[in-house]
Amino acid sequence: MDNLRAHVTQQFQQTFQSEPDFIIRAPGRVNLLGEHVDYNDGFVLPAAIDRAVWIACSRASALHSTLLAVDLAERVSFSSETIPTKTDLEAKPLPHWAKYPAGVAWALNEAGYETPSINAVFTSDVPRGSGLSSSAAVEMGFVSAWQAAAGVQRDAGAMTRAQLGQRAENQYVGVNCGIMDQFASACGKRDHALYLDCRSLEWQTIPLPEGIVIVIADTAVPRSLSDSAYNERRSACEEAARLLGAKSLRDVRLEDFHRNKDRLPELIARRAQHVVEEIQRTEQSVFLLRQGNVKAFGRLMNECHDSLRDLYEVSCPELNMMVNIARELNGCYGARLTGAGFGGCTVNLVARTEAESFARALAYRYARETNKEPKVYICRADDGAEWCKIQP
Ligand code: ADP
Ligand code: MG
Repeated sequence: MDNLRAHVTQQFQQTFQSEPDFIIRAPGRVNLLGEHVDYNDGFVLPAAIDRAVWIACSRASALHSTLLAVDLAERVSFSSETIPTKTDLEAKPLPHWAKYPAGVAWALNEAGYETPSINAVFTSDVPRGSGLSSSAAVEMGFVSAWQAAAGVQRDAGAMTRAQLGQRAENQYVGVNCGIMDQFASACGKRDHALYLDCRSLEWQTIPLPEGIVIVIADTAVPRSLSDSAYNERRSACEEAARLLGAKSLRDVRLEDFHRNKDRLPELIARRAQHVVEEIQRTEQSVFLLRQGNVKAFGRLMNECHDSLRDLYEVSCPELNMMVNIARELNGCYGARLTGAGFGGCTVNLVARTEAESFARALAYRYARETNKEPKVYICRADDGAEWCKIQP
């Protein structure tokens, strides 16, 4: 959104009494298919969306970097050339949000990149904590900010930038996420989905058929996938692979799974069935998208949700309600929960001509049924993180 660009520029001028050298945009993402398969070496199909973090920044002459989070009205400064753990001015521990940019500085340093001091102001219209990866957008924004300030060429490896962001989140912030979020934020392409092999990290862009839009509906139920529920799913998958004699569930073919599933404890068999079928669905979906077969693609999205609800058991009543309402509305090809589950958002594939009325009816009926205020966003697949130099 160009108004966010204008907003960070103006806030930068006010804060630092000068013009920024660079403007950076780094988007959030939504996953269309391939849920809970990244940690099983499977395939995922995310898209970057037209909601993003915007940063205005300049190289600073001070020894420390100063960052202003406009949305939280908080400012920190730390030395980006050491391992940043405290604010420089008051020597307090970094606030939570600052761990993302600080972690990025740490990861860049570890990988041998220069991290010059910067002054930066940022804002975002990616909702925080709803599963649209506002955190990956912040990370990819700041990897870009430091690379821009250091004079790195932009075409120097979007996937490398994604891996630096993931490393920051895993090892510095301490969240055990896969590569998908940072990958989508770094590598997005307008009006395309991204097909990623989580094992080899090979990827391609898949054009989204014309005449459809992505509608994201936030249930207003905070995601509460406790670490224990997530870890329980992960270890069930590892156990299933071990019992089936495979390196990971990626290596188990559907026929082999059905022939051998009686060897697995019942709960583990259900978890594994979701993963094995979901990997197959995602592979199949790419052919359908290329053919422009939106109806069949939407059916796979529906199957994905039902499987997450019944086999993987990561849905919740509000997500099911949002999906059930969507499926009854005109123009809806497919609806499912997206992200880790237990709250957060659903993703819907909707005919462009019906998008506005779909969004209105979905919000109205969901609010009536649950007494919660949902948010519904009509989105477009967008380009990945990018920066431009402001000419003086
Ligand atoms: P999400 O699913 O949105 O990525 P996370 O819990 O992983 O949820 O990340 C959200 C965190 O990212 C916030 O608590 C905050 O620390 C940081 N963050 C995201 N957006 C912003 C923003 N606009 N300003 C400051 N910090 C942000
Ligand atoms: Mg996140």
